[in-house]
Amino acid sequence: MMIRYKTSNTFPKGGIHPPEYKLTQNVPIKPLPIPKSVMIPISQHIGAVAAPVVAKGDYVKTGQLIASANGFVSSNIHSSVSGIVSKIDTIIDASGYRQNAIFIDVQGDEWVDSIDRSADVISKIELAPEQIIEKCKESGIVGLGGATFPSHVKLAVPKDKKCNTIIINGVECEPYLTSDHRLMLEKGEEILIGIAILMKALDVEKAMVGIESNKPDAVEHLKELAKRFPGISIHSLTVKYPQGAEKQLIKTLTGREVPSGKLPIDVNAVVHNVATAYAVYEAVQKNKPLIERVVTVTGKSLPAPGNYLVRIGSPVSSLIEAAGGLPDDTGKIVSGGPMMGKALQNTGVPASKGMSGIVLFRASESTRVEKIACIRCAKCVTACPMNLEPHLLATLSMKAMFERAEDEKVTDCIECGSCSYTCPAGRPSLDYIRLGKSTVMKMIRERNIK
Ligand code: SF4
Ligand code: SF4
Repeated sequence: MMIRYKTSNTFPKGGIHPPEYKLTQNVPIKPLPIPKSVMIPISQHIGAVAAPVVAKGDYVKTGQLIASANGFVSSNIHSSVSGIVSKIDTIIDASGYRQNAIFIDVQGDEWVDSIDRSADVISKIELAPEQIIEKCKESGIVGLGGATFPSHVKLAVPKDKKCNTIIINGVECEPYLTSDHRLMLEKGEEILIGIAILMKALDVEKAMVGIESNKPDAVEHLKELAKRFPGISIHSLTVKYPQGAEKQLIKTLTGREVPSGKLPIDVNAVVHNVATAYAVYEAVQKNKPLIERVVTVTGKSLPAPGNYLVRIGSPVSSLIEAAGGLPDDTGKIVSGGPMMGKALQNTGVPASKGMSGIVLFRASESTRVEKIACIRCAKCVTACPMNLEPHLLATLSMKAMFERAEDEKVTDCIECGSCSYTCPAGRPSLDYIRLGKSTVMKMIRERNIK
């Protein structure tokens, strides 16, 4: 099939322009001090919960496997520190769900010997495609853009499908967040090698990296580096939220439209985040499992907002401490960006693979406006990038009319929040739509079992 590439620099339907507040875009990545103890959740990915392979009293090294993937769509979990397993117990994670975590009291920082900790950048890719996929699986690599889908599953393309383009997401369209931006500036070469590794694994000759034009330094830096990487092109995109959503980014870069209910691979594309490409580089070239990630810790009242290289399982309180401590006027703390992130119940929750940022809002910024009746202005319809009618979906969900919500394609909602953001009546449409979407998805699952 002949594929034509369309050169548009943003997606055509919907979208919004929230204020950016990228307060930390010029703050270099700094390692967060290792805490005294960590809590490492055994489910940090989409799919089956991993099974612990350590017990109370065991000594573990940094990078050692502590919980094993429980099925194909699952992911290994490794220790981010060295020390003694003190217990395996339930925690409330950053999403507000209760789950099991492995608690480790830190002793020194003794790494597994096989991990290459040198500063050398290794560009020659020795592994064969199937070995790359296996290495990603072993290393617990998941999508770091927030979706946390196990990367080895994305790389194992079904036999009846073919990927001909890898889309790399360097958009970072959420306000406040800058972890991907800094990673592109500071680890650009490693990211491009990671992309070349993904291309080899998928037997693809073309990769397109999308970066919004509010990061011109990252665009220029990667463009310069990409001259040495055949098949990888860097694209500066018009700033518009939610450009980092898979379907919107594919449309922007290739003009291809992923149909309702279908996946990127159905239009011959696979999407990975820049941070995932970096993690793939570290796994394949340095034998390093996914035990740390860059997290933006920010907020207008924080004394020292920054981008931190955080060991997985570190309590969020230690991230806030490193950024200068909890400001008195804090009203809400969000894990992720302000558009799609989730409010934290407390700061004792652990950093996880999917945590791209911690954003602290002042009390004055975090109060909801008073909700009034829908005034039928259709602003939510104009803003919706998925061509949905958010006001209708919210009403159907509120009234428990789930069959009708299914007909109106509630499952196409990407939960971007553009509808709620734009509503002059203060309607929390997304809250209702999420409820409708999860109920309809449950209905569909039950139907498929029968
Ligand atoms: S309905 Fe869903 S996809 Fe559409 S704007 Fe609202 S949250 Fe975004
Ligand atoms: S933006 Fe708000 S007020 Fe306007 S139609 Fe949508 S839900 Fe109603």
